[in-house]
Amino acid sequence: MPDFATSPYPHLMQPLRAGALTLRNRIVMGSMHTRLEVAERAPDRIRAFYRERALGEVAMIVTGGVSPNAEGRLDEESHVMEAGTHLDWHRACVDAVRDTPTLMCLQLLHAGRYARLADNVSASALKTRINRYAPRALTLAEVWRTVEDFARAAALARELGYHAVEIMGSEGYLLNQFTAPATNRRDDEFGGSFDNRVRFPLEVIRAVRRRVGPDFGIVYRISALDLVDDGMPGPETLRFAALVEAAGTDLLSTGVGWHEALVPTIAQAVPRAAWAYAVRRIKAAVRLPVVASNRINTPDLAEALLADGSADAVALARPLLADAEFARKSRLGRADRINTCIACNQGCLDRIFGNGTATCLVNPRAGHELELSAPPARRRKRIAVVGGGAAGMSFAFEAAGRGHQVTLFEREPQLGGQLLLARQVPGKDEFDETLRYWSHRLADSGVALRLGCAPDAALLAAGEFDTVVLATGVRPRRIELPGIDHPKVMSYADVLSRRQPVGQRVAIVGAGGIGFDVAEFLLDEAAPQLERFAAEYGLDLSAVAPGGLLAAPRELPTRRQLTLLQRSPGRLGSKLALTTGWIQRDKLRRAGVELIGGASYERIDDQGLHIRCDGQPRLVAADTVVLCAGQESERALFDELSTRAPQLELHLVGGAERAAELDAMRAVDQATRLALQV
Ligand code: SF4
Repeated sequence: MPDFATSPYPHLMQPLRAGALTLRNRIVMGSMHTRLEVAERAPDRIRAFYRERALGEVAMIVTGGVSPNAEGRLDEESHVMEAGTHLDWHRACVDAVRDTPTLMCLQLLHAGRYARLADNVSASALKTRINRYAPRALTLAEVWRTVEDFARAAALARELGYHAVEIMGSEGYLLNQFTAPATNRRDDEFGGSFDNRVRFPLEVIRAVRRRVGPDFGIVYRISALDLVDDGMPGPETLRFAALVEAAGTDLLSTGVGWHEALVPTIAQAVPRAAWAYAVRRIKAAVRLPVVASNRINTPDLAEALLADGSADAVALARPLLADAEFARKSRLGRADRINTCIACNQGCLDRIFGNGTATCLVNPRAGHELELSAPPARRRKRIAVVGGGAAGMSFAFEAAGRGHQVTLFEREPQLGGQLLLARQVPGKDEFDETLRYWSHRLADSGVALRLGCAPDAALLAAGEFDTVVLATGVRPRRIELPGIDHPKVMSYADVLSRRQPVGQRVAIVGAGGIGFDVAEFLLDEAAPQLERFAAEYGLDLSAVAPGGLLAAPRELPTRRQLTLLQRSPGRLGSKLALTTGWIQRDKLRRAGVELIGGASYERIDDQGLHIRCDGQPRLVAADTVVLCAGQESERALFDELSTRAPQLELHLVGGAERAAELDAMRAVDQATRLALQV
């Protein structure tokens, strides 16, 4: 009996024959732009990054997009596929999978009007709101030249040792700009009718196949749903998929939503595996294997999609940042030991769009494989860690894994700290996966747990420990204001921990990340769910309507009347994360939450919160006033130990070290780095 038949994931582990490609299992690492190409030691870092994923038994890795020509680059720094250029980079990518069964696939991506270049091009001269540069329309000769550029780039990929190319035809990039009526107003043979709009990608596939021959892999990434007005209608997408197959494609990967779409596609607000309804229809329309993607973050979910015939394989990008060994652990039946991607975007997409390099909130080693190794400790220390939140837990298992003797104290009966509050916000219950994984890491690395125990300085200094790490976290900041002790005043911690009932009319003081989270929680405590998500964003779950949309996102029903306030003038929520802040702002706007900037708080009484705005007094009528005015570090124990126990090696990590904004990413990264040095 083959191995995969006895695996807990028999569909996921089954090898896949896809034309010229043979995949060892059904897990593909989807393309992800990491920006490692602009980092120091770029080739070494990308080699180490992909190598770990290949050793983690992923079947095929699709690289970040490389443009077939200069005008198709995402930005000035992006690579172009040209003979003799970036050879060290390509060698590193190909080397990464050497002597493993993992395949390396180069993604060819022409950004079209998404290129952040002044001379960007598109099907038609129609500017997108997400790029300050307007495109010019490609001439007919240039369209044919671009077809040839794809073919030449693919041939070069083959010469360099790649096993396949993925032609990027989704997410609103150039090929997608030709296929959708929204962006294609051409009146030549590449515009107008369905046959004309799909001519360009089909010519690209045919030209690539002619140049690379029959025994080289071609993957096409099709837009299963454009999620923009006047996107491709569902029936056209199915016809197009069949033509893509006939043109010489081996594997059909599916993408969802253009980058400018007003529907979230991969954030926590999106239910897991939400897009299976569209992928299933494409699979039914073709014979070649189809790959599902987006918000698939566990092997159980992937197995279910394959078992019910929705897809033949899954493309995981962020889940393989979170855990390079996702495939191997799945094969071994160790899914409980997978470090699950929680769809936060903080370490990956937000950093990339902020011109950083990709890493991962729950796995700081991602993208830093060379630098963050865990050598055995030279001297075994007896370490006390005080505080079982993100920083304390991360430090404890990393340090114990290196051979230190670690005891973790947590004053509550449960580990998690602030994550236990965060997980109450709709969609953030994904943190449960992190807590599950960290708990296993603690047990596996032999950390001694002392729950419900808050050690004092005397205990810590009594000689049982030589090192103490204070990860004591934060407490909500109290603001001084007449009426601050009124019974209607609560902290965000009171609200999220459901310690006290919240009234119907609520004023939220402070519009940082926590203020927005509390507002979302008070509007709707339920986790994302497909039918409701579809209704909220006007999705056509039959995937027939143009772009997959029936209507514009609609007003949201709300249980409460909320007012969100901040002291500083200007737009509320402007400092929220780049890739998810818009979703939160949009949600509050649609739920009718009143946003007030430039407020000075005067007092709280039975009527509510009295403020002054633009010099005018105003009452915000409220049954409950929630304080989200920041937090302060809990470091009394650190201060006491510093004076009382100079013999101890003392460290401060996470919120206890810096409490500016609750930042799990910084806490985990800092604690991990400390654990690898201590
Ligand atoms: Fe997933 Fe967040 Fe890690 Fe990105 S940073 S890979 S979204 S867990």
